[in-house]
Amino acid sequence: MNVVLIGAQGSGKGTIGQLISKEFEIPHISTGDIFRSALKNQSVLGKKIKQYMDKAVLVPDELTFEVVKERLSMVDCFKGFVLDGFPRTLNQAKALDSVNGLSIDFVIELLIPDVISVERLSARRICSKCNVIYGLGNLSKKLGVCDSCDGKLFQRDDDKSTFIESRLKEYHKLTTPVLSFYKKKGFLYSVDATKSISEVYSSVSKVLKR
Ligand code: AMP
Repeated sequence: MNVVLIGAQGSGKGTIGQLISKEFEIPHISTGDIFRSALKNQSVLGKKIKQYMDKAVLVPDELTFEVVKERLSMVDCFKGFVLDGFPRTLNQAKALDSVNGLSIDFVIELLIPDVISVERLSARRICSKCNVIYGLGNLSKKLGVCDSCDGKLFQRDDDKSTFIESRLKEYHKLTTPVLSFYKKKGFLYSVDATKSISEVYSSVSKVLKR
């Protein structure tokens, strides 16, 4: 089962992606996570993308696609995958579409208004050890500490208020054509993502079990 999650920043792609991965036993592949980890490890990829990540703008399509293609060719993806944060531009969607032997089964759009994105991004905190995402609907029990592994929670640099508006603008401009692309193909499903995580996940899971 090959799934793509699309949604504005703060729509819950990461959390929903992790839940799909757990239930359907397929890897959750977040391009944002891959890039952040490359940056942290100062790898060759990390050095190439630093200039874009620092400004919270998109990494060029070619480089992003190269990274995704390599990841999807790994053995754990043979039975399926859930892509989070890719494709984000029409070029990326077309590139994914052109991979031989690969077809997407479900594209799920997590719909939220911008005002909720802003609210959620300002409150989002992530565990530095296990990547669990905390936010308004699921605060950690101890301030700044992960419930699952005691890891320290951090706020992403690009979640700070200076970057939020431009990231949302970029999302709408570049991702709207991606949604039309998948709508025409007939496998776009839109889910109201303003509800609680369990309600949103229940809608998503129903779509995936069709
Ligand atoms: P995210 O965690 O999905 O919000 O992504 C964080 C950052 O990673 C973005 O602001 C981009 O700089 C980069 N990034 C993630 N996914 C993509 C993508 N599909 N295309 C280009 N850049 C990306």
